[in-house]
Amino acid sequence: MTEPTIRSIDGLIDAGLAQSRDQSALEQVAQRYTVAITPAMAALIDHSDPDDPIARQFVPHIDELTTTPLEREDPIGDLSHSPVEGIVHRYPDRVLLKAVHICPIYCRFCFRREMVGPQGLGTLSPEALDAALNYIAAHEEIWEVILTGGDPLVLSPRRLREMMQRLAQMPHVKIVRVHTRVPVAEPDRVVPELVAALLASGKTTYLALHANHPRELTSEAIAGLKLLVNAGVTLLSQTVLLKGINDSVETLAELMQAFVVNRVRPYYLHHPDLAPGTAHFRLSLAEGQALVAGLRGRISGLCQPTYILDIPGGHGKAPVGRPVVRPSADGRHVVTDFRGLDHEYPPNESD
Ligand code: SF4
Repeated sequence: MTEPTIRSIDGLIDAGLAQSRDQSALEQVAQRYTVAITPAMAALIDHSDPDDPIARQFVPHIDELTTTPLEREDPIGDLSHSPVEGIVHRYPDRVLLKAVHICPIYCRFCFRREMVGPQGLGTLSPEALDAALNYIAAHEEIWEVILTGGDPLVLSPRRLREMMQRLAQMPHVKIVRVHTRVPVAEPDRVVPELVAALLASGKTTYLALHANHPRELTSEAIAGLKLLVNAGVTLLSQTVLLKGINDSVETLAELMQAFVVNRVRPYYLHHPDLAPGTAHFRLSLAEGQALVAGLRGRISGLCQPTYILDIPGGHGKAPVGRPVVRPSADGRHVVTDFRGLDHEYPPNESD
């Protein structure tokens, strides 16, 4: 029989993932930020490793009770760019459509942790979803619709298909991009019926897979990715750079290479957002830049993600990798190669 998703501190203690001496503090964490660990992810945890990178992503920690002055409830400014419920319209040509604020698993570093979960913003009512879709229909500048949340793939294939069919009637919408953790967190959900529901006539479907550690790409997860790619869905990756989880060149290189082998194009490596109670996951920008520079020197260009920062306050994303080109005093430029060595461009005639 399949184990159920762990949703309580008692459940974590029973599974050997938390100590009873921490129960009362962890109950306080769980009251504020939802806890859920799917069987697929629980099975990956190495109980002999106190710093296991899978456990650290999903098992609550008492450090989450500490909110630093810089942290904020809405770190990337979704609410200030929401013209109607369920829509975030930050850039002219694209919108987020957040039909659901439920996830199969709850990441302890989640940037929308104040909005997701059963006590969060919930699922859009049929009327609110209709109004959100009407907003997209009425704004012909919207070229891309990003289904996010929460995790849109917790919706049934029937509801996803209905949403895609509404979008299919909007000729200006060309791209539908689905942001999800389901293929790794709950791979059993990725079945042909769900994959078919993501396809609609006249739309190109992208799926951005959220995975942070190479162990998340299990054989079950890979089977789901294969179904998606073979059906015509283009796969991208999104990873959050997290202290103690993937903050080494070796781990990031292994993850990015595993993405590429499984036809997932590395897309974004996110600098962690200033979500409340997540300081223990954050590196400095300088540390992140050094890791990304290390990747450049080590693995194929196919495997290079863009290191990205969501500027707090809703000002959008900015690539924040170390610049490799700068002006030199004589009007030329200096370009840094993958070994960290500088070169003039254009070169001197003698070079
Ligand atoms: S799956 Fe995404 S939205 Fe859900 S808890 Fe994790 S980071 Fe947050």
